[in-house]
Amino acid sequence: MNASVLVINCGSSSIKYALIPAAADQPRLAGIAERLGSSDAFLKGIDSRSERFEKALPGADHTRALEAILEHLEGHRPAAVGHRIVHGGERFTRAARLDDEVIAAIEATAALAPLHNPANLEGVAATCKLFPDLPQVAVFDTAFHQSLPPQAFRYALPEALYRDHGIRRYGFHGTSHAYVSERADALSGIEGGWLTAHLGNGCSTCAVWEGRSLDTSMGLTPLEGLVMGTRSGDVDPGLHAHLARQLGWSLERIDEVLNRGSGLLGLSGLTNDMRELEIAASEGHENARLAIEVFCYRIAKSLAALSCALPRLDGIVFTGGIGENSPLVREKVVSHLPHFGLGLDRAVNAQTVRGREGRIDGGHPAAPRLWVIPTDEEGRIAKETRQLLDETTP
Ligand code: AMP
Repeated sequence: MNASVLVINCGSSSIKYALIPAAADQPRLAGIAERLGSSDAFLKGIDSRSERFEKALPGADHTRALEAILEHLEGHRPAAVGHRIVHGGERFTRAARLDDEVIAAIEATAALAPLHNPANLEGVAATCKLFPDLPQVAVFDTAFHQSLPPQAFRYALPEALYRDHGIRRYGFHGTSHAYVSERADALSGIEGGWLTAHLGNGCSTCAVWEGRSLDTSMGLTPLEGLVMGTRSGDVDPGLHAHLARQLGWSLERIDEVLNRGSGLLGLSGLTNDMRELEIAASEGHENARLAIEVFCYRIAKSLAALSCALPRLDGIVFTGGIGENSPLVREKVVSHLPHFGLGLDRAVNAQTVRGREGRIDGGHPAAPRLWVIPTDEEGRIAKETRQLLDETTP
């Protein structure tokens, strides 16, 4: 398929969009509609001349926001729509063309992602209404991790919880880990063994061997694993019972604190924004410093644990807003992994920011590579959409 794909990432009150042309050198139109359903809803984005625009959409719902997005596609008509769907359960091991049966299967998975899948499906419904003739494809965050072996995806819980209720590790950020590991293969000229670290507001690590995910840090939900912007990552599973018994906290309150009041924000008491934390730490804010230390140590610990999944370690890939932009975090993570024999070129590390792709390990032939690779989840969703349609369209 040699035409543009409209990529839609729909949340409960937001729609992120990107029109991805078939040729990589063509400009992308992209933006986000936020605060949908409220009086201060708005759409902002970037046009084909790389100029920014912003437009108020008071009271707009998802359909109205999509109509406004269409007006900003500058007359381009996409050939297909690719939807980011967070949870595909065990059913979806790759992208799927959206029809009634696939939509029902995504609805059936909503219990595993109650905040995400219903919102994703709202975007699907609104897009189908606006583009009844266009093929619509679901690309799942979980699908890349369906190659995990049982030893990596099972929890040590009674078997019936897995069999009857799907309680297992699924993993997320699949399109990002898939994209950067494939890119690391291409840049290195090998089908390698990579540890990928997606470090943004949400954070996860992944062990990828010859293009397949073998283990990852997120689990049943995107709360497991690393310290994140506002999410705690791993805690003692006894914590919930302790907080309920000792402090009388409800499950809702515990869930809220672990998801929205913890992580970098909870540790620092300041912010979930790594840029602000780095500045505060350099000015002597003790808790900002601690938040960065815990964040980096836990990334290194996760990478070391995931290295067990790989027959050979060819390198580590940093991506996401923090992974792509924070030389400090990358240096601290590397410093916690002396037994990996990593090198770090400090000058190159410092320069590899703001969308630059590069190798920061200094190039010693015996050392694992260290790549900084800006992620491209939208591009990956468009690619998987095209691939599926090319295979299934006569
Ligand atoms: P993402 O969710 O991938 O957009 O990443 C968001 C995170 O990236 C936030 O914590 C930002 O503070 C962080 N980030 C963006 N730019 C920088 C930077 N120059 N230095 C440190 N962190 C950054």
